[in-house]
Amino acid sequence: MGMCVLCEEQSKKVHTGKPHESLIKVDDPRIYIGNTPGGFKEQDYLCLTCKSKFSHSTNKNDVRWTLWRG
Ligand SMILES: [Zn+2]
Repeated sequence: MGMCVLCEEQSKKVHTGKPHESLIKVDDPRIYIGNTPGGFKEQDYLCLTCKSKFSHSTNKNDVRWTLWRG
């Protein structure tokens, strides 16, 4: 179960919002109205190459890209 090179790079991107070219959106974004002004969004992504799953958050206090293993 290897992660592709692009996903390895993606997992290190904590401050940029752009998904790499093989990541596709999964489901609808989840909207959170919390203590952050305007709330924030989470969007799940799936890699077409290696099937890694990422979750992208617009919460400024959070890591932008979270990798979900297995
Ligand atoms: Zn990948």
